Amino acid sequence: MALHLLHKKDSLMLPLAATLQAVAQTVESCQVCGNWDTQNPCHLCTDGRRDKTILAVVENVADLWAMERAQRFRGLYHVLGGTLSALSDVAPEALRIPSLVDRCRQGGIEEVILALNATIDGQTTAHYVAAALEGLPVRLTRLAQGVPIGGELDYLDEGTLGAALMARLPL
Ligand SMILES: [Zn+2]
Repeated sequence: MALHLLHKKDSLMLPLAATLQAVAQTVESCQVCGNWDTQNPCHLCTDGRRDKTILAVVENVADLWAMERAQRFRGLYHVLGGTLSALSDVAPEALRIPSLVDRCRQGGIEEVILALNATIDGQTTAHYVAAALEGLPVRLTRLAQGVPIGGELDYLDEGTLGAALMARLPL
């Protein structure tokens, strides 16, 4: 990649360097939700059309963008900045859990959706967050697990198929 950029120094490398510098100078982490944006609080937190009573807790900004691409969620977000991991030595203090508890304490939030990865670290973090929010007047939910759109039962792993059975819906 570096060699390709050097071959196209004027047409590619210098404009890319200028763009990266501009991004580094203007983009910052939202003080409310942890999203990256050129304004702080970010455009999602300040959008009056979004439902401020629902909060989706995600691991990182890439997950927030994935949720936005789905175009189904119209609430607000809280980016944890990672997941608890014994292997990677990520402790609760390293995540934005205290600020999540503060947001829920301030009131106005009725539901917190734990939109975390269906991995061991993601589920460990979900349990920790649920414990941290215990006693607060918010309804805790998590994303459903099951058959993916276009998925064939024959190719599903037993864990996913079992979760889909447990989370079945009336027709
Ligand atoms: Zn924000």
